[in-house]
Amino acid sequence: MRLLTFNFLASMLLLACSGNTSQTASDKPTQKGKVSSTMLKIIPTVPSYIPGKSQQDSAKEFLINLYGKARIELASTDSIEFIDQGENFDSVSCNLCGRAIKMEDWQNAMDNAAQRQFADLSFVTPCCHKKTSLNDLTYHSAAGFAKFVITISDLQDDLSDKVIRDLQDILGTPLRKIWAHY
Ligand SMILES: [Zn+2]
Repeated sequence: MRLLTFNFLASMLLLACSGNTSQTASDKPTQKGKVSSTMLKIIPTVPSYIPGKSQQDSAKEFLINLYGKARIELASTDSIEFIDQGENFDSVSCNLCGRAIKMEDWQNAMDNAAQRQFADLSFVTPCCHKKTSLNDLTYHSAAGFAKFVITISDLQDDLSDKVIRDLQDILGTPLRKIWAHY
């Protein structure tokens, strides 16, 4: 867990310090010897939510039936983690007034929250001075926080709204889609 947090912060710092993502790609330890990849991550909208075992089994079966050729992984963690979008990270804006959040402000909030394993995601917006959550900010492209994540690699097409609705019914939670590129 500690290592994951470190990797996340290190890669975010690299992103924050450089406008050129192609430069940072070669610096990331996870990139060595790997070709770039795109994956879809699906998480509950409530970060602490973990579906029951039978719900997870049903979801996996449902997805394998539809996307047998893709690599489908379900994982859950003890603490909440930032589910990032990799190189698709561009910026963060306020979900209440729409103004851009300064990278420095967001990074500081993330560092503080990471120290407590993201148990408290509350965030007071510097723009409109209102209370929101790091999970509710508008990420470009989408990102979020979760204990449970479905990762689908080698996916040919996007999941339709109908598939997402069915998956939400199976897992008993609204879901958020995150497209990640590494
Ligand atoms: Zn605002």
